[in-house]
Amino acid sequence: MKPRILIVYTGGTIGMIEDAKTKSLKPFDFTHLMENVPKVKMLDYEIDNIQFNPPIDSSDMNISHWQQIARSIVENYDRYDGFVVLHGTDTMAYTASALSFMLGNLAKPVIITGSQLPIGEVRTDGEENLITALQIAADRNDDGTPTVREVAILFENYLWRGNRSTKRSADNFNAFKSSNYPELAKIGLGITFDRDALAKIEQELPLEANYTFDTHVISIDLFPGLNEDVFRYLLATPGVKGVVLRTYGAGNGPTKKWFIDAIKEAISRGVVILNITQCVNGAVRTNRYMGGDYLAAAGVISGHDMTFEAAITKMMFLFGLGIDKEEVERRLSIPIAGELTI
Ligand code: ASP
Repeated sequence: MKPRILIVYTGGTIGMIEDAKTKSLKPFDFTHLMENVPKVKMLDYEIDNIQFNPPIDSSDMNISHWQQIARSIVENYDRYDGFVVLHGTDTMAYTASALSFMLGNLAKPVIITGSQLPIGEVRTDGEENLITALQIAADRNDDGTPTVREVAILFENYLWRGNRSTKRSADNFNAFKSSNYPELAKIGLGITFDRDALAKIEQELPLEANYTFDTHVISIDLFPGLNEDVFRYLLATPGVKGVVLRTYGAGNGPTKKWFIDAIKEAISRGVVILNITQCVNGAVRTNRYMGGDYLAAAGVISGHDMTFEAAITKMMFLFGLGIDKEEVERRLSIPIAGELTI
């Protein structure tokens, strides 16, 4: 049986062409994209596609687009062996995180890729990324089960867990990295999977999709000089249910009384505050310094080693489930789809 792969084309640089007048890049349709990758035919796969109409620059990505991608996968889940999502790089890590939470009990590959140079350009990275993504989506273990059974980002030389990835470069072909989790595969002459790092399925359960997100969340970055009035104003943003607080180092904040009081007051008003570190590598360990201790004692939840992209999408996802505040807090600090290490 030939592997059956569904490509969901959302847009992004990979399918863009230059606007004749402005010379800036704009999204273009899927036929153009595939015409530029004749080598795909050399893969003996059955490939179908669904495309966004119109395709978008991923800076325009929003919740309804995540729902559209997830629905395309859910509605076709039994008909295909794997899924390749073509997506702009700018918000790829957010979409990867969102899909990993939406697609509960996922047991098939959902490989997201794109490119830094449009597919029509001579030096494009798009052709290689698309072909490798298709090969990974089709890959099988000896027992016939899919090798990858999670949402992953394939870019240039690496396959990363989607909800552990961050876009690191606006220039390099190796644009993504996951600083707190090993690569799922290295791409060189061959594709070498790290089987210990890949998600394992203990028990196959039916796919369970949740499509709702609640966007009443904000993020606040700490920096020396953060103003008390501004901080209090942000925490009191009308309608806000959750705040991702980007702290220093191992999860530290100022030890000043006004700062801790403002946090405590927000929490007593029912706001959920999640602590993640501004460091690209490492985790929140709130018992290490007094500034972290105070935050934990005030009721701030540890986000452990989550990326910002995973933290904010997870918060929107959990509030979207309609569960109570205590349950949101509990689930924030335990993994749903391998997004954090305790
Ligand atoms: N702005 C583009 C996008 O995210 C960048 C890219 O695809 O690399 O759609």
